[in-house]
Amino acid sequence: MKKIILFLAIALIGFVACQDSTEDVLVEQQSKIDMSNFYAFTDEGTDLLSKSSNSRNCQSMKVLNRQLNENPGLFKKMYDIEYNTRKAIAAKGKPGGGGGNGNGGGGTPDPVPYVGAITIPVIINILEDNAGDVTQAQINSQLAILNEDFNNNNPNTGNAPAEFAGLVSDVNITFTLAVVNRKISTKSTWGTSNAMKDVGQGGIDATDPSTYLNLWVCNIGGGILGYAQFPGGAAATDGVVIGNDYFGETSGVYGDGRTATHEVGHWLNLRHIWGDGRCRQDDFVADTPSSDRSNGGCPTYPLVHCKSADMTMNYMDYVYDDCMYMFTDGQNDRMRALFVAGGAKASFVGN
Ligand SMILES: [Zn+2]
Repeated sequence: MKKIILFLAIALIGFVACQDSTEDVLVEQQSKIDMSNFYAFTDEGTDLLSKSSNSRNCQSMKVLNRQLNENPGLFKKMYDIEYNTRKAIAAKGKPGGGGGNGNGGGGTPDPVPYVGAITIPVIINILEDNAGDVTQAQINSQLAILNEDFNNNNPNTGNAPAEFAGLVSDVNITFTLAVVNRKISTKSTWGTSNAMKDVGQGGIDATDPSTYLNLWVCNIGGGILGYAQFPGGAAATDGVVIGNDYFGETSGVYGDGRTATHEVGHWLNLRHIWGDGRCRQDDFVADTPSSDRSNGGCPTYPLVHCKSADMTMNYMDYVYDDCMYMFTDGQNDRMRALFVAGGAKASFVGN
């Protein structure tokens, strides 16, 4: 009896193996991309645990949690974007994977993260109490700061400690001012419900998010500096929201326009530097150290968590504007992976 069962088992394995021989190859290729650590939902309890009173208030992850609950298809979209991001970064690391089109090692070449200058036209949608409350000087300075930070021209970059200095990246993205839309509104605070993006709720509709970055400026309220929508979200709400007190050069510790830098980082698929969780929860970037918390204020290096110094000076931490001054090469690759053919931001570069 045992022999019969063994024979049947071997026959069955042989049958399955023959049936799936083509699929096996595909599965084998796909299995090279490790997606086991991917997450989209985050634990707000962990966020509260780590948050200090002098830390910036970004609501991007909370808004993402809400959108994941509202839209059952969003997780799959974000998973697919993540898969393609990891595939592009893996292709860059393979022999022959440099240049504009990587070779995946036979068969169809896998694309590497987009190479070359990227220009992003910006639509600024302003909701204000009186015409001109948000000044032209704020607008101009905000564009200048974004261009400074995404082209490695932040004057504080030279402060990077030796451990991180070699990782400072020139992201080579230029932001140009396309249109400024202004609307007078008596609404005192807008919250994070995306009402500011909907003309039916008193806001201003997004303009073609496939070729423009839409940036809304309004009083969000609740001490919230800003929030962004991650790639994969609905077109109608695509873009970044910045509190009017934190837009461009204003005053105070968040008065140097770096809320926009941080939020545009999210819009280009960057997670918070600590990964919104404990030590083992990653930000999906290989060259950033692991941490279990956000950092606020202006920390003195080295600030050690999870057995290594935190990269508190990264734009994706929660420190004061003057104390953040770098993206890493790994973050740059992650952003640029969105611009390959078929990627979430491919239409910005004509792909
Ligand atoms: Zn954030």
